[in-house]
Amino acid sequence: STRVLTGITTSGTPHLGNYVGAIRPAVAASRGEGVESFYFLADYHALIKVQDPARVQRSTLEIAATWLACGLDPAKVWFYRQSDVPEVQELTWFLTCVAGKGLLNRAHAYKAAVDRNREVGEDDDAGVTAGLYMYPVLMAADILIFNADKVPVGRDQIQHIEMARDFGQRFNHLYGEHFTLPEAAIEENVATLPGLDGRKMSKSYDNTIPLFAPRDQLRKLIFSIITDSSMPGEPKRTEGSALFQLFQAFASETETAAMRKAFADGIGWGDAKQMLFERIDAEVTPMREAYEALMADPARIEATLRDGAERLRATYARPLLGRLRDAVGLRDLS
Ligand code: ATP
Repeated sequence: STRVLTGITTSGTPHLGNYVGAIRPAVAASRGEGVESFYFLADYHALIKVQDPARVQRSTLEIAATWLACGLDPAKVWFYRQSDVPEVQELTWFLTCVAGKGLLNRAHAYKAAVDRNREVGEDDDAGVTAGLYMYPVLMAADILIFNADKVPVGRDQIQHIEMARDFGQRFNHLYGEHFTLPEAAIEENVATLPGLDGRKMSKSYDNTIPLFAPRDQLRKLIFSIITDSSMPGEPKRTEGSALFQLFQAFASETETAAMRKAFADGIGWGDAKQMLFERIDAEVTPMREAYEALMADPARIEATLRDGAERLRATYARPLLGRLRDAVGLRDLS
C-alpha cells in the first residue's frame, strides 16, 4: 500500500487554510483503499518559531481535537505527536551527518531569512537559529522514518521533499538500502487560502480565521476581510479577491458560478460577506460541536496520542533505528 504523511505545526490555533489545504483532503484520502496514512502534530518543528511553552501545548491540543473532529479515525490511521517518537531525533542526527551543507544553504526558509537581513543591512545570519537552518533535515527524518512514499504538499514544499530524497539516497549509498525515496504529491486542486489581510493565511502572520471560532467571532472575522473600496452596484473583480477565493474553497461549482455572477452584477461587500459566513458556518457547525466536546476532555486526546505513538514506535520506529544504529556502527539498543 502507499504511505502518505501529513503534519501540522503546533505553532497556534488551526485555521481555515490548514483545513482546506491539509486536513480536509487528508481525511478524504485516508478513507481510500490501499493507503496507509500518517498524521502528526509537528511539535519539534514548532520550537523553531515559538518559544512560548503554553502556546505549543494549547496548539497541540487544538490541532489534535481538530483532526479528530474533522473525521480522522485513529483506529484506522497512524495519529501521533512528533515528540512522542524520539527516534525522529536520532534519525535527524544520522541524516545531518550525510546532509550537504551547501544544499541547506539553498533551502527556501533559510534563504528568505538571509534576504530579509540583507534588505535591512544586517549580517546574513543575524537572528537565524541553527534550528531554522536544519529544518529540512528534521522534515526528512519525519518522512524517512516511516518510509512514506507520498507526501502531499503545496509547490513551496517540493524543495524539502527533494532534500529528503537526497539525504535518503546518500544514506542508502553509504550504508545499504534502508530508505524508500519519497515523492511529492503536488496538490493542484488545493487552493492556498488568503488571510484577513490578503497575504497567505498563516499562524505566523496573525491573519487567520480559526477553523472553530465561535459563530459570532467567525462572523466578525469574515466581516473584517479586506476588500477594495467599490460601492454596491459597481462590478467587483474576482481575481485577487480574498473574499472570492475563500468562498470558492467552501462552495460547490454552482454556488461559485452564482457568486461570480453576483460579483459582476455589483453585489455589495456586506452581502457577499454574509453569504461567505453562511457557507463556512454550514460546513463547520457539525464539526465545531465535536471539537468543543473533545476540547472539554483533554485526557481522552492525550490517551489517543500516546497510544498512537506507542504502537508506531513498536511497529516501525524502534526496529528501524535498531537496524540503522547497527548499519552506521553504533550499538543496537533494541
Ligand atoms: P506556520 O505559520 O506555523 O508555518 P501555517 O498555518 O502556515 O503555520 P503549517 O502548520 O506549516 O501552516 O501547515 C500545515 C498544513 O496546512 C500544510 O499542509 C500547509 O500546506 C497547509 N496550509 C497552511 N496554510 C495554508 C493556507 N493559507 N492555504 C492552504 N493550505 C495551507
